[in-house]
Amino acid sequence: MKVTEHTIHTAHIKNNCPECYSTEGLIFKFIQKEKENAWYKKAEKQLLESLYCTNCNTEIYPVRWDEHIERVYQYNKKLVQPLDTKVHLKKRSKILIGICLLLIAAILIFGGVIDLNMFGVK
Ligand SMILES: [Zn+2]
Repeated sequence: MKVTEHTIHTAHIKNNCPECYSTEGLIFKFIQKEKENAWYKKAEKQLLESLYCTNCNTEIYPVRWDEHIERVYQYNKKLVQPLDTKVHLKKRSKILIGICLLLIAAILIFGGVIDLNMFGVK
């Protein structure tokens, strides 16, 4: 199964980096994983969040966030528009389901379960 990580929201924030104190480098990212196989794909509900400082090239983990960062985080979290988490069937799944339905219909018709005369077909 293939897993794709979609970055669904990115925000450059002006807070002080807890590591290097720069106000230029902090970037929030919200990532959503999507699992995919040959038949369908489905995005996961759970979002991954990361705060990275491009100035000191450090991942800032939530334990290091101060209240200002926390506030900006909450704000950005509200802006995130996650991907639909429903199962999306791929074309080949739909074709297979279509073929199955046709087969079932054919079996019912040729097996005499359904009489086409019922529908006025001679
Ligand atoms: Zn930094």
